[in-house]
Amino acid sequence: MSEAARLLETGTQASRGEAPRTSIPATILVVEDEPEIRAPLCHALKRAGYIVHEAEDGMTACRIIGSQRPDLILLDVMLPDLDGWEVCRMLRQHPDRLIASTPVIMLTALNSPEDKLHGLELGADAYLAKPYSQQEVMLVSGRLVERHRREIQLQREFSRLNQAVEEQRNLHSLLFHELRNQLAAMQINADLLQHADSSAVTSRLAAIHRSSSYLQCLAEDFLLIRQVQGGQMQLPTEPILAEALAAEMLELYETAAQARGIALKLRVEGTPLPLTANRPAFRIIVSALLDNAVKYGPSDHPVEVVCRFGEWRFELDVCDAGEGVQVQDSAKVFDRFYRGDGARCVAGSGLGLFGVRTLANAMGGNAEVDDQYGKGNCFRVWIPFAA
Ligand code: CA
Repeated sequence: MSEAARLLETGTQASRGEAPRTSIPATILVVEDEPEIRAPLCHALKRAGYIVHEAEDGMTACRIIGSQRPDLILLDVMLPDLDGWEVCRMLRQHPDRLIASTPVIMLTALNSPEDKLHGLELGADAYLAKPYSQQEVMLVSGRLVERHRREIQLQREFSRLNQAVEEQRNLHSLLFHELRNQLAAMQINADLLQHADSSAVTSRLAAIHRSSSYLQCLAEDFLLIRQVQGGQMQLPTEPILAEALAAEMLELYETAAQARGIALKLRVEGTPLPLTANRPAFRIIVSALLDNAVKYGPSDHPVEVVCRFGEWRFELDVCDAGEGVQVQDSAKVFDRFYRGDGARCVAGSGLGLFGVRTLANAMGGNAEVDDQYGKGNCFRVWIPFAA
């Protein structure tokens, strides 16, 4: 990768994560090596309300493009190091689509039809030959900035919608997968019931009952998560005793844990305080994390649940001795039904860690992987005391 390409990319990484920029004044980068041309142009742009960055050469331009992500570039062609043609060509090949689509106005003394054609072929949006009228530059700049901002807004909206559609699709396929599995189990048990002797009847009926309760829970969880996710419902909250509710959930998982030689331990850190939260959502969160640990954590190792009462937030940790989530995966495990290796990360009602995070978010908190936790797996959900 050339030095200029590296500058474009490193600058980009440094500026990721900043706030959407649509509400702040537009930024224009003026690339011009002659101060007597650059100064009046920059002055006029600043007076018109733009934030202006200046570059005297192509390499500086690349660095500013990567770090400042201007809304428009006014680009001279003949520059000391990297010429304007090259800057434009590299800009259009930038891996970040938003940067690659930054509008460019070429401002140059090269005014033959061939030069103009060359500039447009390289992806310039406009080509103004020197001497240009400042009014013309201002007019074209204003239009291109506005167009670019609309495009950015549309692109953001488009990816948001795409993500929502994909999440819904995953949610539905997961739901139908679980439905099919549980209905098949119920059918097998019902068939066996016809020929079962009296001692086996109870266990067959219990299995059918388990499957049907599970499906009922699944349907309720699904509806709750979908309503929260679609923004159709604000979760009603009430003061809950988180440590007591967690202890109740632990009891429910006691039998399943024992069957795999897993000891469930509950630890309370800090002084317990009532937490303002949604009771069913909290129950689903604890249940999904416990289910995940009990089903997929290694057998014969303990699962530790910590209720931590901090200064301003409550934390629930559910940790097992399983293979830790890889650090590069830790941001993804709560995303769109990430499955990791095998089904390790698909938990609880089947709605898994995605549901955990969605519900934690709806209560003003979040779900995270604690990659500092020994060698095991540790999932943390936090909820603020005051929304
Ligand atoms: Ca020049």
